[in-house]
Amino acid sequence: MAEFTMELNDEQKEVRDWIHGFAADVIRPAAAEWDEREETPWPVIQEAAKVGIYSLDFYAQQYFDPTGLGIPMAMEELFWGDAGIALSIVGTGLAAVGVLANGTEEQIGTWIPQMYGDANDVKVAAFCSSEPDAGSDVASMRTRAVYDEAKDEWVLNGTKTWATNGGIANVHVVVAVVDSELGSKGHASFIVPLGTPGLSQGQKFKKHGIRASHTAEVVLENVRVPGSCLLGGKEKLDERLARARERAKAGNGERLKNAAMATFEASRPAVGAMAVGTARAAYEVALDYAKTREQFGRPIIDNQGVAFQLADMRTSIDAARLLVWRASWMAVSGKQFTSAEGSMSKLFASETAKKVTGQAIQILGGNGYTREYPVERMHRDAAIYTIFEGTSEIQRLVIARTLSGMPIR
Ligand SMILES: Cc1cc2nc3c(=O)[nH]c(=O)nc-3n(C[C@H](O)[C@H](O)[C@H](O)COP(=O)(O)OP(=O)(O)OC[C@H]3O[C@@H](n4cnc5c(N)ncnc54)[C@H](O)[C@@H]3O)c2cc1C
Repeated sequence: MAEFTMELNDEQKEVRDWIHGFAADVIRPAAAEWDEREETPWPVIQEAAKVGIYSLDFYAQQYFDPTGLGIPMAMEELFWGDAGIALSIVGTGLAAVGVLANGTEEQIGTWIPQMYGDANDVKVAAFCSSEPDAGSDVASMRTRAVYDEAKDEWVLNGTKTWATNGGIANVHVVVAVVDSELGSKGHASFIVPLGTPGLSQGQKFKKHGIRASHTAEVVLENVRVPGSCLLGGKEKLDERLARARERAKAGNGERLKNAAMATFEASRPAVGAMAVGTARAAYEVALDYAKTREQFGRPIIDNQGVAFQLADMRTSIDAARLLVWRASWMAVSGKQFTSAEGSMSKLFASETAKKVTGQAIQILGGNGYTREYPVERMHRDAAIYTIFEGTSEIQRLVIARTLSGMPIR
């Protein structure tokens, strides 16, 4: 039995300090500018590529950390720097994971390098699943992919929305319905390379927070991609659909649903870690401010009303991190998420980030409410964590269903 420890080893500390240095020296100083510009911070992504943080290798190394803490540690530090810029740096990873999880070795080798480009010519990728009528309810997706056997091509039609890097990506990974009878089991993922006729960017959203991250609609009109762009290949898809049809007939759909849930449970802690990073950043600003700002002849932290808020903020942040680390460790150790621990970590960390960043504004008073201080931006940024990768309500639904075994709605 491995000895239990919560202390990072020397190598992990080194990596953490390196990422923190990049976040402090490169990301943080650029945060306000790119938030105002509401544009993808290409020069910062390029800097990240130069030092090796914007690359598949970097994520692979963190992912294969045997303790499971590599990814949460990296996310916390990058998002501590700034959430919008950090999402621009890690957003490609969402599409890359889609290819890694479902693609053949050849597809992985072909497309992932094109998602990142290189330090002299960085590229980004987009993962397009959400639709105007299919947000939380993924099964109601309408984008269709129809196979044209004569040409060995797939024809995609539909509208995707909220796609991070949508329309500006070198590679779009698009989820589409191939068998509408099977709900989410009838979905498949496709690579749509840059310049494919019929793919266009719809509206680019003007957002409340994470404004350095590009979010847009992606419109697909008779988009034709070669058969080789179906992730995993046609044979595998046909086998999967056949199994799903058999299970549906036998009323045995639960097993597949459970496999999909396990994937979410393993990926949600990473979003929790992003939230911990933003919360920690706001808490640190508030703590410093409370120690230096004087009113009534003494630092405002001298008042229990302020000091106790900071105590609560820090307690919640540490609790959130522990939930994230537990779920990440469970994922890497192959443990069953019998209490939806991944969803718990995302729920608690995202709600903590929203609350803590609001408390930070309160502690900074009028200054907190202005763009002269970063907590206003952090509070706007934090609101995303309770929405994307499954809203807080969906996390609660998953947790409640898992705990009760009941089909709670
Ligand atoms: C900035 C940003 C970036 C994003 N990036 C991507 C991306 O790269 N790729 C991608 O595919 N998607 C992306 N998304 C989409 C994101 O995952 C969805 O917004 C999210 O899943 C919620 O869907 P929705 O917005 O349609 O809300 P809805 O599903 O319409 O939900 C609206 C409200 O109803 C509640 N609700 C819905 N159903 C239930 C229920 N059964 N019980 C209780 N409450 C319920 C929700 O919790 C929410 O409060 C992004 C979104 C944003 C805002």
